[in-house]
Amino acid sequence: MGRYTGPVCRLCRREGMKLMLKGTRCATNKCALERRQSVPGMHGFRRGKLTEYGIRLREKQKVKHFYGILERQFRRYFQRAERSKGNTGEVLMSLLERRLDNVVYRLGFALSRRHARQLVRHGHILVNGRRVDIPSYQVDVGDVISVKDRPRSLEVVKAAMEINRAPVPDYLSRVEGPPPEGHVLRLPTLEDVAIKVDPQLIIEFCSK
Ligand code: SF4
Repeated sequence: MGRYTGPVCRLCRREGMKLMLKGTRCATNKCALERRQSVPGMHGFRRGKLTEYGIRLREKQKVKHFYGILERQFRRYFQRAERSKGNTGEVLMSLLERRLDNVVYRLGFALSRRHARQLVRHGHILVNGRRVDIPSYQVDVGDVISVKDRPRSLEVVKAAMEINRAPVPDYLSRVEGPPPEGHVLRLPTLEDVAIKVDPQLIIEFCSK
């Protein structure tokens, strides 16, 4: 299955919560969820009681859409978390949070995770001084994420930083620059995830 290219606000309406997929619009009263609470589709007014299976499925889908990843990628993260020594749910969320596109967004260099993904893909982002154009790249403690020191890159990121005023999470620190850069101070934990998530439900879903 390919990447979801449809209207992203539908995903928020489906999950019944703001997934912040559209950048600046999400913080304004133009947010689709603020105006329409119904589930998308013909019978949207019916948000019936979810089954036990449905609750777990929605939790997994919510996290997948939030980080903008596909089912197969998600399964790979889950398998990796399962193989690790730590708590599977916490490791899973930590792996997702350590994605380079997510870190670029959380440093405020982009307007949304999608935008961050594009910045990475277009070579605007360096990790430890080297160009990394893989959005799923896993950052590690001590890594320095910076913006390429060229006018076009600096311009794009500066514009995003002026708009994205969300606080930088504790596991990162940001130097305004120029060029702006971010430091990974520690590995992210479940508390650093920007949405409320119950990883246990995801484990129960994926372990079937
Ligand atoms: Fe979700 Fe943002 Fe659309 Fe609101 S504006 S529904 S938060 S993507």
